Amino acid sequence: MFTFLGGRPCLDLTTTVQVRHREHPRELLKTPADGTRWLAEAGYGPAIAVDEDGLRRIVTLREVVNRLCRQSGRDTDRAGMNAFAARPPLVPHWTGAAVEYRGDLGQALSTLARDAIDLLAGPHAARIRECAHPDCSRLFLDASHAGRRRWCDMTACGTKVKSAGYRQRRGGGS
Ligand SMILES: [Zn+2]
Repeated sequence: MFTFLGGRPCLDLTTTVQVRHREHPRELLKTPADGTRWLAEAGYGPAIAVDEDGLRRIVTLREVVNRLCRQSGRDTDRAGMNAFAARPPLVPHWTGAAVEYRGDLGQALSTLARDAIDLLAGPHAARIRECAHPDCSRLFLDASHAGRRRWCDMTACGTKVKSAGYRQRRGGGS
């Protein structure tokens, strides 16, 4: 299941690999159809065609964004991101009730790369966090006023940490 908790599309893209810190991370983009589905759920579409080569391009951009957000990126990653962003982006289409972002895969990847550049080069770069839950490694943007948000999602991860701590304290016999 895809999650869109990161606060930025480029960060949500990085979460299509789960438990990155484990020996066997879980890949959610296994087929081109997964790529089309993620793009649709991200609000891009209505149905962007993705083939095997397209899936490789999505994964390439995702890993570039992931490395740069975790400050392990290199100059070649920045160059790769700039190349994705050099294409024209998706075109907004306002229906009156909502805005749809339309175009092909190259445009979708450009939009995602531009979002990443805007984030990484801007004042919010220092607010990119990794979820503190031990079974989660999702990146998110901490937009809280105090800047002390720890979990990608309070319900999904924050509550589990709190209940695990509660069980440990109970188990300790105190
Ligand atoms: Zn989390």
